[in-house]
Amino acid sequence: MGYDVAVVGAGVTGLSIAWHLAQESGRSIVLLDGTGVGAGASSIQPGGVRQQWGTEMSCRLAVESFRFYQQFDERLEPSVSPSLNECGYLFVAEAATGFQQLQRNVALQNAEGIGSRLVDAEEAAELVPGLSSEGIAGAAWHARDGYFDRPLAVIGGFHQAALARGVTYLDRDLEALQHNGSQWTLKLSGAEQISAGTVVLATSYETPRLLSGLGVEVPITKEPRYLFYSNPINQRLLEPLVVFVDRHFAAKQLADGSVLASDLTADGDPEALRSEWYKHIKESIRERLPVLDLVSFPVMVEGFYDVTPDRQPIVGPVTGHDGLWLAAGLNGRGLMMAPAIGRLVAEAISSGTLGEPLGELSLERFAVSDLTPEPQVV
Ligand SMILES: Cc1cc2nc3c(=O)[nH]c(=O)nc-3n(C[C@H](O)[C@H](O)[C@H](O)COP(=O)(O)OP(=O)(O)OC[C@H]3O[C@@H](n4cnc5c(N)ncnc54)[C@H](O)[C@@H]3O)c2cc1C
Repeated sequence: MGYDVAVVGAGVTGLSIAWHLAQESGRSIVLLDGTGVGAGASSIQPGGVRQQWGTEMSCRLAVESFRFYQQFDERLEPSVSPSLNECGYLFVAEAATGFQQLQRNVALQNAEGIGSRLVDAEEAAELVPGLSSEGIAGAAWHARDGYFDRPLAVIGGFHQAALARGVTYLDRDLEALQHNGSQWTLKLSGAEQISAGTVVLATSYETPRLLSGLGVEVPITKEPRYLFYSNPINQRLLEPLVVFVDRHFAAKQLADGSVLASDLTADGDPEALRSEWYKHIKESIRERLPVLDLVSFPVMVEGFYDVTPDRQPIVGPVTGHDGLWLAAGLNGRGLMMAPAIGRLVAEAISSGTLGEPLGELSLERFAVSDLTPEPQVV
């Protein structure tokens, strides 16, 4: 079977690319994923879509994506609305160095038109009732950062809308790629084979393995991250989302009442270290959010970030391999960047030209030394 474009990986990145490509009629598009739609990190993410970032690139991708998500229901007509809640994000710095970074970030965000601002410890405590503000160096606040109440409905919405636009979904994995003149041959699981003029790999941390056969090196590593959830609680204890930047600790009470706590320093064997991580979370709660002191977190969920050396995604064509594209290395923020990345990739494939942002996100950037790392990854 032959297609114009094959998108490999049905996470939020691949789904957005397939949907954006399908806006132009007359093109045959196939979306492949042998594990299932949203089977990777896209079904683990709890729904955060913020615009407070520390590089122009991340701010621009996040702002465009946020605007898209504000119109998600009108544009995609999902059967279940993901319900974007503009709850606000407060980034709290306890150390002076952490606050200096927040100051730099807010200056950059404001230059990009994002209405974030710095707040002192007193105002931080007003914004987050129950926050212990003693010893806080300062904080950054943006009232319009948001959270999806039903994040999986974003995945479902993109999938349904892509199918409605004529995208074919195959529950097959890509096993190998081969270029034959103007076409790519894709060898799939189940001993099947298809061909496509253009192939987009939206395969997260699997991308390096898939490209090694072509001699292409992709600097993406797989790093585990853990989320801890309480059972739903019938009382609102915490509003809005709060991130403690020096501790890499974040907490949010979700729409169903459960409290989500993440300690992004958790590293190592989860079997052996789970209770230590739990203690660390309880310690941060006692010191900074005592209002949550009686909350327990019986559920621990493991997911993986696809991490690049500069914490920026790799998006664009692979030089020397005509018609082969990458969209991976989302570094823990793929949901909040997916609409912009989908549009950029689809437009570049349609027009045959790369806009400025894609040049900056190319795989080739790692060959030079002046990378611009994103500092606001949590
Ligand atoms: C704990 C945690 C919390 C997070 N919180 C947030 C958040 O609040 N907000 C946010 O924006 N982001 C968050 N993220 C990050 C976000 O989940 C990811 O960046 C995003 O889901 C990446 O989407 P993706 O489509 O690029 O990758 P994935 O969702 O991982 O999808 C990749 C897909 O490729 C498929 N695949 C792999 N190999 C093959 C193959 N050979 N053939 C076919 N298919 C293949 C996989 O099965 C998978 O479905 C979080 C991540 C984690 C782990």
